[in-house]
Amino acid sequence: MDLSIVIPFLNEEDSLQELVERIYTHVRPLNLQFELIFIDDGSTDDSINRLLESKKKHPEIKIVRFRKNFGKSTALSEGFDRAQGKIVITMDADLQDDPAEIPNLLKKLDEGYDLVSGWKKKRHDPITKTVPSKLFNFTTRLLTGIKIHDFNCGLKAYRKEVIRAIPIYGELHRYLPVLAHWQGFRVGEIPVKHHARKFGHTKFGARRFLSGFFDLITVLFITRYKHKPMHLFGLFGLINMFFGALILVVLAIQWFQGEPLSRRPLLFLGILLVIVGVQSFSLGLIGDMLTSSKDTRPKFAVKEVIE
Ligand code: UDP
Ligand code: MG
Repeated sequence: MDLSIVIPFLNEEDSLQELVERIYTHVRPLNLQFELIFIDDGSTDDSINRLLESKKKHPEIKIVRFRKNFGKSTALSEGFDRAQGKIVITMDADLQDDPAEIPNLLKKLDEGYDLVSGWKKKRHDPITKTVPSKLFNFTTRLLTGIKIHDFNCGLKAYRKEVIRAIPIYGELHRYLPVLAHWQGFRVGEIPVKHHARKFGHTKFGARRFLSGFFDLITVLFITRYKHKPMHLFGLFGLINMFFGALILVVLAIQWFQGEPLSRRPLLFLGILLVIVGVQSFSLGLIGDMLTSSKDTRPKFAVKEVIE
């Protein structure tokens, strides 16, 4: 198998058949052995029937159905596990990503890249999406040092080794380039055409945006401290202990000089808040670090596989 195209979808009934036809138009001439893996991430509309209709015509289509909506990362992860191709391309199902870019992605991989990410240079989305997205990409670029413009683009191509090496969950699909780069893979980018959503509506609102930022923090810490947490927590702990000791010494001196400690409520509150903050932050971080190396997918997410 040369190529697996993995497409997660949630309620995209009006787009799926057109998407399949467009993919075939651009992939068939390449003369590759390929498969299309659709992951139904808990759709409640007519998507599955439309897709089954397409499958009658195109035996390369495989469908994995989730019991309920588990999110795009889980869906992608499931598709990655099942992909048999030497190269895997991911794509959104809503016709916003253009299948005409598939040959271009493959060409760029051929130049020696392990992961090629699409860049929606002229983006056709409402300003409520593009502005937060710009901010998000800017921050991610700044913090990770990876010179990619569009981490969130659904259209990406991977060599098989890349997706085998990286477990994803939550909103981590956005950070595949970061995690891949960290493992030493070569990450590239090409500008891709982008279209306005023709049918249905976006599934990514403000809530996911925030959780995307939390995941960025996790990714940053995974890539820097996963194998040496002591370098992070140790330093943090030392600094806190130092200032804690300093405060206590100052208080002790003042106490010896006859000043009662009971008149310093703010100081105690400050110490308390620092301790509580440090504890809960570290706990959350440790939890995330542990989770990141485990496959947290629900074991029985898949209801049905249609091959
Ligand atoms: N999607 C999914 N599970 C979800 C949310 C979205 O599989 O929980 C799919 C969706 O059907 C689409 C792709 O992920 O194929 C991108 O979603 P969307 O178009 O809503 O995101 P946007 O383009 O607005 O960022
Ligand atoms: Mg979309």
